[in-house]
Amino acid sequence: MLNQLTIIQALKGLQEKKFSSQELVKDCLKNIDRVDKKIGAFITVSRSKSLEKAKKVDNLIKTNPSIFKEKPLLGIPMALKDIYSTKGIKTTAGSKVLADYIPPYDATVVKRLKKAGAIIIGKTNLDAWAHGSSGENSDFFPTHNPWNLKKVPGGSSSGSAAALSSSQCLMSMGTDTGGSIRQPASFCNLVGLKPTYGRVSRYGIISMASSLDSIGHFTKTVADSAFVLQITAGQDSLDATTPNVTVPNYSNKLTKPNKELKIGLPKEYFSEGVDSQMRKTVEIAAGLLEAQGHEIINVSLKTTKYACPAYYIIQPAELSSNLARFDGIRYGNSRSFFGDEAKRRIMLGTYTLSSGYYEAYYLKAMKLRSLIISDFKKVFKEVDLLLAPVSPFPPFNLGEKVNDPLKMYLSDVLTISVNLAGLPAMSLPCGFTNDNLPIGMQFIALQFKEEVLFNVGHQYQQLTDWHKKRPNI
Ligand code: GLN
Repeated sequence: MLNQLTIIQALKGLQEKKFSSQELVKDCLKNIDRVDKKIGAFITVSRSKSLEKAKKVDNLIKTNPSIFKEKPLLGIPMALKDIYSTKGIKTTAGSKVLADYIPPYDATVVKRLKKAGAIIIGKTNLDAWAHGSSGENSDFFPTHNPWNLKKVPGGSSSGSAAALSSSQCLMSMGTDTGGSIRQPASFCNLVGLKPTYGRVSRYGIISMASSLDSIGHFTKTVADSAFVLQITAGQDSLDATTPNVTVPNYSNKLTKPNKELKIGLPKEYFSEGVDSQMRKTVEIAAGLLEAQGHEIINVSLKTTKYACPAYYIIQPAELSSNLARFDGIRYGNSRSFFGDEAKRRIMLGTYTLSSGYYEAYYLKAMKLRSLIISDFKKVFKEVDLLLAPVSPFPPFNLGEKVNDPLKMYLSDVLTISVNLAGLPAMSLPCGFTNDNLPIGMQFIALQFKEEVLFNVGHQYQQLTDWHKKRPNI
């Protein structure tokens, strides 16, 4: 079952010629055939293309064993959220507007991953245009949680999380505008990284809300997560929001755990509204880190309560303008193909930007955003890192919140402040509910300090084995 391996394990096996890239890809494809009818993680599976590529990879390895230096992800089967433009492969954004759209170019990140030798095995399901927290807003079909098929896998990167969690690939890419990597990672027992805003190029990834969109990934371990960011991170001349900030060697930073970090627990993230199982589990994880020599202190982020209202003004405003380009004239279907959620957000966003309302809504929300940013700045004077639950509740039933958008939006209360402030955060497994559903916690760091997340996260994974548990499917 090669499809169960982590990236680092698989690379070692390929290098040592224990198995071939074709065998690895075939095991993933076999597993897709076995489980994906039940899960619904993939919109497109690139069978023949990925097998062809694997054959080429095997020849490369045969003729040049040191090729892995040049191509660090060589032969790794991966999945992309179907919002990443892929040259020659259908890219739908989960919407019927783009049901038959085939992009003529690759997103920068796709280019980088391909250059590193990764094999794109398929494109994954999502809430249409990345609007959602459960995967149920996909215009095609909902994705099911591999841990319990009656539950949602989280969203909007629903298919990417479910595909990796059920070992249909070895890694997957997502986007996090308000939690869409961290929340599904926590629902599916995975590591989900939302890098600093601007750390990874957004070029070629269909925009949701441009000032919030972060490009990240799902892996089974923190070590794998660090490995992938090394490839995707860095300035891109095609995305002006990627600054020229050095990309450190992330994997090197894992080996020596930093023992004396100050880790803050923001009290607003442990409030009554958060399920007690989630709170307790994260507190236990904090205790474990304290026993390793870290200092745990209670802090307060008073602006947390403004995050949801500010986000649900700024995000629809930005997306209403981004979605204006899908006019059905140059490509894609007409605007009548937009689903209910996209229409709701377009109307909300257009309304709050319209003359006479702009000051009352958009401008006010932007002021709240500034307060949220200052709040984090203040707290990071006291601590190196924050630790908090990811979701206020465990994975919920399919259908449970779909008819109540407000309830659905409240899924994001613990994730969206981070997006508004442009900070990096990583969700990782830390336990299970009484019903055997995964619980995740998130570390939050200062801008461009992803290495701190990896350092502590890796240390935690050396002490625990929550991340090794796989669903029985
Ligand atoms: N759940 C949030 C929303 O619906 C976040 C979406 C995202 O991060 N793409 O807006």
